[in-house]
Amino acid sequence: MRIDLRDNSRNLLGRGTIDPATQPAQLIDQSSQTTFALDFSGALDDQARLCRCPVCGCRDLFRRKDAPQRLGLILVVLAAASSIVLFALDQVAWSILVLLGMVIVDFAIGRFMGQCLVCYRCRSEFRETPVDPVVHEPWDLAIGEKYRQQNLQPPPGSQTEATAAADETDRT
Ligand SMILES: [Zn+2]
Repeated sequence: MRIDLRDNSRNLLGRGTIDPATQPAQLIDQSSQTTFALDFSGALDDQARLCRCPVCGCRDLFRRKDAPQRLGLILVVLAAASSIVLFALDQVAWSILVLLGMVIVDFAIGRFMGQCLVCYRCRSEFRETPVDPVVHEPWDLAIGEKYRQQNLQPPPGSQTEATAAADETDRT
């Protein structure tokens, strides 16, 4: 299994390959020699499918196409713009053909590039691991928003909470 560890802003913190069968307790990034803790207890179900994030323990994972997201966005914008221009030029058939072509390209990307799993909470990505459409749902806006709100909260014991506690003590 290949793991890309990311922070909340999706910046890459480290990456490495581990053998999930050995349930390793850490992952070492070979380029920076940084060690990251892993916890595989309950992370795999009886069919070796990932059902819990071994990086942060979150049980919410989603599957997505393992293609560069920027490439996908550029393709969609180009197809949409071309289609609008063709429609405005009264080339309705070509306009529809461009959109159909986009659907075919999107399908091909999903088919040939495979899929990966992503943790909603810590955004770590997991590749070369079984992705089962029955167990692993695609991105869900409501769940994504829940974790986005959680990630905006200051972590427990942070400056803000400590200051608030100090203020509380001063008042008493
Ligand atoms: Zn996670």
